[in-house]
Amino acid sequence: MAIVSKVNQSFLTEELFQHIWQFRLFQQAHLTTLEGEPVTVIHSGMHNKHAGPDFSEARIRIGKTLWAGNVELHLRTSDWYKHGHQRDLRYGNVVLHVVFEHDLPTIDTDGIPCVELQHCIPKLLLRRYERLKLADAFVPCAKSASWVSSLIWENWKERLMIERLEQKAAVIKEWLTQTRCNWEEVCYWAIAQAMGQPVNGDAFVQLARSVPFVLMSRYAYNPAQLDALLFGQAGMLEGIFTDEYPSQLQQEYRYLQYKHKLKPLLPHYWKWLRMRPAAFPGIRIASLGALLHTGTHLFSRILEAYDIPALEQLLQINLGPYWKQHRKFDVPGNGTHTPGLQTVHHLLINAVLPIMYLYGRETQLPGFQEKAIYFLNKLPAEQNSLIKGWNSIGVQASCAADTQALIQLKQTYCNEKSCLNCAIGAKLLKESFINKFTQNGKNV
Ligand code: SF4
Repeated sequence: MAIVSKVNQSFLTEELFQHIWQFRLFQQAHLTTLEGEPVTVIHSGMHNKHAGPDFSEARIRIGKTLWAGNVELHLRTSDWYKHGHQRDLRYGNVVLHVVFEHDLPTIDTDGIPCVELQHCIPKLLLRRYERLKLADAFVPCAKSASWVSSLIWENWKERLMIERLEQKAAVIKEWLTQTRCNWEEVCYWAIAQAMGQPVNGDAFVQLARSVPFVLMSRYAYNPAQLDALLFGQAGMLEGIFTDEYPSQLQQEYRYLQYKHKLKPLLPHYWKWLRMRPAAFPGIRIASLGALLHTGTHLFSRILEAYDIPALEQLLQINLGPYWKQHRKFDVPGNGTHTPGLQTVHHLLINAVLPIMYLYGRETQLPGFQEKAIYFLNKLPAEQNSLIKGWNSIGVQASCAADTQALIQLKQTYCNEKSCLNCAIGAKLLKESFINKFTQNGKNV
């Protein structure tokens, strides 16, 4: 009865039990109802995540009769009564009640055939799941992730990459509604957000919102005016400066602020702590200004780009002379903080390709969606601590599509220990069922 005691442990949840049923990770030979009638599961049914029985459209043979209908699962038989199903009409057509442990003194279960699975589920599967839940590594499956075949990894990464693109596209779609479908404006917001990541993304969106793209476009050919608008609106032109450049910007901004009735952000929006100089908000704002200086209609030009070098060319950032020698106003730098190709790729991955993908979907021009995915597969893998973590456990990334997938996996699944919803977790549990439930039926 070793397993019965485990039913009290928090890791054995209804979610895990439903997963075991859905993917039939239990020994089916000699399965019987409590009354002793043989049971064959032909189809475990469709998982219902809403109110009502857990599975619908199941096909189960009980004795000589083939039943089609709903299946309800519980960890214990008594849960049927605790949940009040005996009075609920939605449960009237349940054809099978599946329990981990039968805990009632009689075998009468409201007239519905009942099967108990606790002795049919490999202990190893439960132990593996427990280890996943308790693990404290970079990801819970750190020791076993590399055992999973590359085919499963590749398919899963492809789905995760689309999931991440969709997630980013959803944010941009919301902006699109707010701007009444102004693609140029939302492209500018998306690039600003990516420019501020990881810690100043929201502040950059606020900054971009405070000086609309159409206004920035009017000054696109004057880099000092672009800097004055951006730094002034960022609240970074207050006080007294030693250098001539910020003092000039201050004057310029006062004129532009009055002319366009601009209201700057408060300086506390910006985070400066524990950052490399290349990530300082000032350098990133100057980079945004330099990008806007390359010309107007950025989004239209992005759509026309036919390959990655063309996109890299469009997003190339040439900082002005002041920013090549300073990392903050009045603070000299040695030039190592100036943005390079890695920054351009970051903008492509996090702003340009998601908006291109969304554009394809919204305008029903799937070629743009395909192009965005194709470019993601062609861009080099991102280099960051999260990707290094995956590499250290034997999971490699060969392109940006891979790294985006692994970021999505870590942030959305591993950190939440949502292993039952992950193809890798599902495979690891299935392996423990296939390999370890011995031929002679001994549960190990
Ligand atoms: S979610 Fe998937 S990849 Fe992440 S720890 Fe769980 S099984 Fe591993």
